Amino acid sequence: MKVSRAQVDTNVIETSIELAPGIPLNVYLVKGKGKFVFIDSGIQQLHRALMQTLAEAGFSHADLAYVLNTHSHHDHIGGNGQLLKATGCKIIAPRTYRHWHSDFERHYQEFARSFPGIFEDTAELRSEVMDILDEPHPVHEAATEGMLMDLGAGTVLEGISFSGHMMEEFGWLDRHSGTLILGDVITLMDAPFIHGHVTVSGYRESLDKLARQVKERGVKQVLMAHFPPMDRQQFDMLLQQAHDYLLKLEKYVFEAVRQGNGTLETIWRTVCKGLNKKYEFRSLATVHAHLEDLVAKQRVRQVAEQQYEIDPASSFY
Ligand SMILES: [Zn+2]
Repeated sequence: MKVSRAQVDTNVIETSIELAPGIPLNVYLVKGKGKFVFIDSGIQQLHRALMQTLAEAGFSHADLAYVLNTHSHHDHIGGNGQLLKATGCKIIAPRTYRHWHSDFERHYQEFARSFPGIFEDTAELRSEVMDILDEPHPVHEAATEGMLMDLGAGTVLEGISFSGHMMEEFGWLDRHSGTLILGDVITLMDAPFIHGHVTVSGYRESLDKLARQVKERGVKQVLMAHFPPMDRQQFDMLLQQAHDYLLKLEKYVFEAVRQGNGTLETIWRTVCKGLNKKYEFRSLATVHAHLEDLVAKQRVRQVAEQQYEIDPASSFY
């Protein structure tokens, strides 16, 4: 595992590995005065590297005040247990998915097997989800909108809530430096799989909220878990790409319904084939989210369980 470190802001150090070819996983250490936080803990295999990062930054274990989990996916909370044990820090995470931290079986079932008829419980699927998680652990405090984390030396992080990729996720804005740190609010678009979102309307609202925040709060830099650091201009472009990506997915889903025999499984397979993406559980949840969204917009109707057709009253496209 090749680890790299970079000072990405005067008070932020990035620890990074390549999760898959071309897909980095970045964990950020934000420094204050005699106190610091990690934004996410990455995967369990990253633990030694994170301890090294804090040693190189001149901190002792006891200086780690919190791990602020952007969201509760396995590749963002995977090292929480070890950090907690090694440092006595506290974990702050979104309330909705608290149980994903303490109960890995539910984490696995709700994440990878929300459509159990389509995805069987296999050793391979289980290990994909579980192997990067260390140990079940408590969430000490739920993140909330506007929550402030004063680390001293002028560093105050503010929690900002989002949805889309999950039903609840948080970004952290350093109010002094104008650096916004995000997990997966903006999902990967070029990966060989559909990174995924579970609510399309939530994702659209989050894109709008991000655009507003960046503009009104003087954001200068955005740091994300799976993208390189971006300045304002680069991030604005990424937001536009995410808008276009959502629209593209919607069109593929609608087109797959139009082709007939519209079960969730056939629609999902058609969409993945058309977009050249892997057939896996994240894409299935995403296609389902788009179907729900199209039903809500009365462009598609659900005729039976996991069965869809074009709403004849729809004039869409
Ligand atoms: Zn995620």
